Amino acid sequence: MKLRRRLTSRAAAAAYAAVAVTASIALATSATATHPVDSPVTVVTNPTPATDTRTWSFSYNNSSTNYYLHYRNTVWDSNYDADESYYLGVPAGAGTFTFTGGTTYDLVDIEWHVQGEHHFDNGGTTTRPKVEVHFVHENPTDSSDKVIVAVHLTEVDTADDNDLHDKILRSNRPVPGGLSKLKTGVTLNNLLPSTRNTAWLYQGSLTSYPYTDGVQWVILKDTSLEISSTTLSAIRNHWSTHAPDYNARPLQTASPHPLTHR
Ligand SMILES: [Zn+2]
Repeated sequence: MKLRRRLTSRAAAAAYAAVAVTASIALATSATATHPVDSPVTVVTNPTPATDTRTWSFSYNNSSTNYYLHYRNTVWDSNYDADESYYLGVPAGAGTFTFTGGTTYDLVDIEWHVQGEHHFDNGGTTTRPKVEVHFVHENPTDSSDKVIVAVHLTEVDTADDNDLHDKILRSNRPVPGGLSKLKTGVTLNNLLPSTRNTAWLYQGSLTSYPYTDGVQWVILKDTSLEISSTTLSAIRNHWSTHAPDYNARPLQTASPHPLTHR
């Protein structure tokens, strides 16, 4: 099925605003700075973006055999079936993400997208990761304020499923609209790569319904966690009618857009 972007009322308003700005040179600079960026975007790594001085930390202490993998197939728009996804629901208090000296965000769920949603441009060659995991965090006092940590896994050509991401996706797949209790215990901390303090950052939007702004993206640079071709092939087969994006949202915003890194 052809995927296309839903025209939201906000997008329509932005389009109207863009027309208005064209007529007013004086407003152009500030309007450019505040125009919302729709995610996913192309992450331009060359030339190197500005350094981000913020630091952050994770506290993922929760281990459990009582997690459930959900299959979300919300039929809210026949033009955008890519809202189908696998996500791991986590209970309150399962984990937090904190900007040093700033807000502490609660982990609310972990989602898997095949293909990757963000693209990369190293100054000539554009690439798209095979899989992208979202660790969605929410400000406990303002649910419109979110931090999504994105992790790209490396596809390895092996049938073994010793990696934790493989174990979750291969042995626990629920039916559409359903959910299944994990057959294996999961320590949330082990779903993150070991290097967590280097990332590409920008302010964007949700990549699934309701596509709202207010998302701080933290795209970790460590791609050393692995997932097997066997697992990815099974997921691609499951969403084959949505190829080539499968359950990923198509690229929304190419460069340039504000991006930082550390
Ligand atoms: Zn997601």
